[in-house]
Amino acid sequence: MLELVNPATGRVFEKLEPTPISDLNEMFGRAQTAQKKWKKSSYEDRKKVFEGFCEGLLDQAEPLAKILSQEMGKPLSQALGEIRSTVPRVKWFMENFEKCLESQTVFEEGEMTERISWDPLGVVLNISAWNFPYFVGSNVFVPALLTGNSVIYKPSEVCSLTGLKIRELLLESGLGPDLFQTVIGEGSVGQTLLEYPVDGVFFTGSNRTGIRISQELAGRTTIKVNMELGGKDPAYICEDAAIDETVDTLVDGVFYNAGQSCCSVERIYVHKDVYERFLEQFCLKVSSLVMGDPMSEGTYLGPLARKEQLAFLEEQKRDALEKGATELVKGGLVEEGEGCFYKPSVFLNVDHTMSLMRDESFGPVVGIMKVKNDEEAVVLMNDTDFGLTASVHTRDQERGEKILSQLDVGTVYLNGCDRVSPRVPWSGRRNSGIGSTLSCVGIKEFLKPRAWQMMA
Ligand code: NAD
Repeated sequence: MLELVNPATGRVFEKLEPTPISDLNEMFGRAQTAQKKWKKSSYEDRKKVFEGFCEGLLDQAEPLAKILSQEMGKPLSQALGEIRSTVPRVKWFMENFEKCLESQTVFEEGEMTERISWDPLGVVLNISAWNFPYFVGSNVFVPALLTGNSVIYKPSEVCSLTGLKIRELLLESGLGPDLFQTVIGEGSVGQTLLEYPVDGVFFTGSNRTGIRISQELAGRTTIKVNMELGGKDPAYICEDAAIDETVDTLVDGVFYNAGQSCCSVERIYVHKDVYERFLEQFCLKVSSLVMGDPMSEGTYLGPLARKEQLAFLEEQKRDALEKGATELVKGGLVEEGEGCFYKPSVFLNVDHTMSLMRDESFGPVVGIMKVKNDEEAVVLMNDTDFGLTASVHTRDQERGEKILSQLDVGTVYLNGCDRVSPRVPWSGRRNSGIGSTLSCVGIKEFLKPRAWQMMA
């Protein structure tokens, strides 16, 4: 049995039967058959499903948010925010997928015509993460289904109930049951799924699992693989930045969802001329963050979703302190109760020999470094194995763009951070991933091109 533990209390609140491995063959067979029919369905029919899905998300936002909070500890207000904000994202896909499917005649001369058209991949396997299950799930299964694929969806074991609810909402909206099938289970079930004949694997999760999956698949197949992995995202505050606004933006960028976002800010570099001022205001604001029961109004920081992360953060802290760091806002493990709570920590006197500044923390901790100038900031920001996002904070747009253009990351922000838009591609470079989701670039990932070379 899969035991679902409420991270706020440490208690098991539900037990679920994992999907039997003996069912998988039949599930994949049904997904293949259903997809062959679905790819011929009208665009209007496909859109109708997602209109219903959006209505369902809005109508049921509160009970769905409670389930999400109970499963992974996200404060209720943030869970509601995620569910409601999924709707405009889904609508963007609904309004834009048709143009990505349009074929184009690219050459006509004499008797020769050349054209590009697009076919769905077929059966898409989506192995997903728990931190924003509605966002990261819909980045994949919405465009996959709209473009004529069927989906085998494995939610994170941490958010299994949410995964089942997503299927329920899609089916209530008229989607055929074989077009979106949820598989419940731990990582080992995800690994087993890779053995089936899928046409694309879309993975969202940790770098460690992503590399395992890549190795596993690369040894025996050449199917399409798309990976949205972790980050170690930096922010740089120039001396001309609007400090009050920047502090607010970055406290949220570091601590929202208890730092459990792929694009959380995990490293901050501050120009020496505003270092003291930034630090003072930043720490003051961090000390005011309210941690507590995720179901209570006013809670900003809930528990971490997984117990293992507590030990990892404690080890990062031990390593940083041993190498000379100072903990300016003292955080760490909360000893009372069985919950998975970790108080926010801010570290100074850090350097890049420390795990805190190199490895994804995925928790409410941050390291802050003073820098002399933009050149030093660029070198430090690029000194990482990851490449998801980076931000620069300045009133001088030209200077900001010059710095941002030198960073090897998929998304750059000027005076903002930790933001995802459906209109632009979401992609990680280096150890942060392969391929894109979102935007027309992301929609195309669910399609394969057909080149037409035709003589009259
Ligand atoms: P995880 O890697 O532990 O698990 C992700 C999924 O993979 C789960 O469904 C899990 O059951 C499954 N899995 C585990 N081992 C597997 C295996 N050997 N074969 C196949 N499947 C397996 O990650 P997580 O803890 O769920 O998510 C947190 C991570 O996800 C963080 O690193 C975060 O940065 C990253 N993330 C990235 C993005 C992005 O868009 N780049 C978005 C959200 C989360």
